Amino acid sequence: MGNSAFIRFIRTGQVMPLEVVTATAENREHYLKPFAGSATVECLCAHPPIPMTVAHRRVGTESWYLCPASATEKHRHAEWCPLHLGAGNDSADNLDAPPAVTVEDNRTIIRGSFTRTWAEAKPGAKADAERSETGSSKASARSGLAVLLWALWSQAQLNTWKPVFLGKRFYGSIRGRLLSGAQRVTVESGRSNWSLADDLHIPPAWSAKDQVQKTACAQFEAMLHAKLSHHQVLFLAGQFRKIDETDADGGRMIYLSHFRHGLWLPPGLAQRLEKATSQWAGGLAGEEGEHRFVLARVRAKKGPVASDVMPNIECLDIAMERFSQEWIPLDSEHERRVCDLLVAEGREFAKPFTQANRKDWISGLCLKLGVVPDFVLTDRKPAVFMEVLGRMNEPDYQVRTAEKMAIYQKTGRPVWTWDVLQTDMIPELP
Ligand SMILES: [Zn+2]
Repeated sequence: MGNSAFIRFIRTGQVMPLEVVTATAENREHYLKPFAGSATVECLCAHPPIPMTVAHRRVGTESWYLCPASATEKHRHAEWCPLHLGAGNDSADNLDAPPAVTVEDNRTIIRGSFTRTWAEAKPGAKADAERSETGSSKASARSGLAVLLWALWSQAQLNTWKPVFLGKRFYGSIRGRLLSGAQRVTVESGRSNWSLADDLHIPPAWSAKDQVQKTACAQFEAMLHAKLSHHQVLFLAGQFRKIDETDADGGRMIYLSHFRHGLWLPPGLAQRLEKATSQWAGGLAGEEGEHRFVLARVRAKKGPVASDVMPNIECLDIAMERFSQEWIPLDSEHERRVCDLLVAEGREFAKPFTQANRKDWISGLCLKLGVVPDFVLTDRKPAVFMEVLGRMNEPDYQVRTAEKMAIYQKTGRPVWTWDVLQTDMIPELP
């Protein structure tokens, strides 16, 4: 007789055979649905038990499933456990999940493998970013850092727009909002957790003329120098400025606005970033006048550290996202056009992320419907969901779109769509 795998529901303490829980779609819903959330279940195949997250997929095949709650512990399942990650083992319950996200009333918790000191970080190890590429949906695959950036942007409320914001979103103001939004983001790694605000560094705006700003920049560099010299691993974020060509080691140097030191991307990371940005206008190098924002996990590059020179900075992981002139996040050029039009016409709207949205009525509505639209027009009652349909020539995309539309129709949700392959003109706004 072989071993059987059992799981325990942490809140109730109930233990069930995994086989029974995952036997049918009905069983999955019955047993897993009440425990939706991160690290609500543990697999008992190993000691100590392995934390599991109950996730829900609505568009595509509706399903409740188990995914790893911890990147470091996911490999501990016993060989005989159905949740063991191995070659050819690709059933739904083994799909690697993006980092677990828990949204509470006034904060977002992101669980990932974010090491904090130089010694813990494994040079050349695959970072979190690699994980999501094994997921089923390539379109929604994002790195752990990208999800963290979304959580931050959402807590800073920078993904909403009102006409009164016009002219008020410049580098210094978004920096301030992000640093205060970081107080509402908690990072969890292994057994430790800390506020992102303790660990997030964004260069202050540089000005050669303003003495106060010059002093702030000098203090920022001194603080960064001290932390990097003490082998800390830090979150460094900022507006993308430029990237150098590949160097002799196969890496590339990336530069942020208002910060004179480059961040070195090792070859694997540079290639991954190139791939992630390949469909953007201008590719990785970008285009004049567009907005991109970078969140990186950095440390001092190995080597002697001088007390008076900034150590060479190396990225362990990096995420880069695109934004409109008003710093609204964008997924495509068509979304940019819609966003620019909404701003020009003085409309009020939000751009929800596919996950890690702060708790508000929009994310509540999206959660209830099981759908995340491209934009929500909030100056109409009821609010209108907006869908920019970019790939209606792909069968999978058509199916997902039809499922979304069915949900909108069933729930009486007003929806506006633009099928970009049908017409290049943006349809009239509601
Ligand atoms: Zn197991």
